[in-house]
Amino acid sequence: MARLVMKFGGTSVADIDRIRNVARHVKREVAAGHEVAVVVSAMAGTTNTLVDWCREAASLHDAREYDAVVASGEQVSAGLLAITLESMGVNARSWQGWQLPILTSDAHGAARILEVNGAELIKRFKSRGQVAVIAGFQGVHQETGRITTLGRGGSDTSAVAIAAAINADRCDIYTDVDGVYTTDPRVVSKARRLDKIAYEEMLELASLGAKVLQVRSVELGMVHNVRIFVRSSFDAPERIDPNAGPPGTLICGEEEIVEQQVVTGIAFSKDEAQISIRRVADKPGVAAAIFGPLADASINVDMIVQNVSADGATTDLTFTVPAADYERATSVLAAAKGKIGYERLDGATDVAKVSVIGVGMRSHAGVAARAFKALAENRINIRAITTSEIKFSLLIDANYTELAVRTLHSLYELDR
Ligand code: ADP
Ligand code: ASP
Ligand code: MG
Repeated sequence: MARLVMKFGGTSVADIDRIRNVARHVKREVAAGHEVAVVVSAMAGTTNTLVDWCREAASLHDAREYDAVVASGEQVSAGLLAITLESMGVNARSWQGWQLPILTSDAHGAARILEVNGAELIKRFKSRGQVAVIAGFQGVHQETGRITTLGRGGSDTSAVAIAAAINADRCDIYTDVDGVYTTDPRVVSKARRLDKIAYEEMLELASLGAKVLQVRSVELGMVHNVRIFVRSSFDAPERIDPNAGPPGTLICGEEEIVEQQVVTGIAFSKDEAQISIRRVADKPGVAAAIFGPLADASINVDMIVQNVSADGATTDLTFTVPAADYERATSVLAAAKGKIGYERLDGATDVAKVSVIGVGMRSHAGVAARAFKALAENRINIRAITTSEIKFSLLIDANYTELAVRTLHSLYELDR
């Protein structure tokens, strides 16, 4: 007997037929004698609709009310799954975040989980063999009692936090692909499924654009040592051999991975914008004058490149911000123009960040240099570069994203 968390994403619960399919997966694990907590997302498209409605009602709205609205999608799918399980003879009940409770910070729209109370769930596993169906994505702020949400894709984080709280043997993330691939399989058909990937690599992949897992869920998994297994909900439950193990990807510690490649995967993101500040004074304090106001406005700056000045007096500074913050960033910088002192602001939103990730880079030199050469051969211009121990990122024109990803995917021998 094992204790499992089973998380199902939006496409897996998109309609009543799919919810029935999910219920059969749950029933399969219950029949095998396992204790099961299920975490569900809202039905596909629901959260987007709810977000749009909030914007339509008022473009500037209270984040607490936004959370009250968008958390409702998961309430529906949790209730529907519990009804379906009951109809199949499986004892189940639904739980809202506030009912467990799942306590979070009060950062509405992007709250962090502080504590999960799993005691009642465990009691019910033992006394009644009851399946818990928990609404993902939502929690409650203790002091105000208000409903919070965890940021888009947050049901993954709910699942891993619950797995840690009830000491689950495994956290299965059921989604619309059968694992974590070397890059997004919907973009590169030659992408290969990974059997295992280290937490640190998954963390980079997720934060650099692969949306298969929310970043925070991987962080939590790493801290609490939760075994996260990404697999498909579309496999027919009846056809899964309980002894063979289904296809999927285990997120685990680096030491569990025997055959380590230099490069594990490639991520990309088009949600970037580039800002260049032209002819800014080349003297101490300028970077502080630029990035201070951006930090005060809670705008995350990512890649930063400063040119060596030709005349010793002025230089150009280029950096990226999230595309969603582009307008705000340029107006913050325009407001600070007097203090910073620059000639001109140039910007571009049609840029993309392509990142190459692998713990093997720690012990191999020249990995990035090969990428520069391969992209140059394809006449792809690199606007900015950043590197760290286990990854490097390149900023390019958005039009070349697919070509760049495919080129690098072949270069590092990731093609299937
Ligand atoms: P869910 O609704 O189940 O949470 P998501 O849409 O959030 O599913 O995440 C699954 C999607 O992530 C896949 O459909 C795939 O297009 C995308 N994805 C991006 N990068 C990768 C990757 N490296 N491996 C697998 N899937 C990826
Ligand atoms: N329903 C939420 C979203 O679409 C949370 C999730 O699916 O993980 O972002
Ligand atoms: Mg998701």
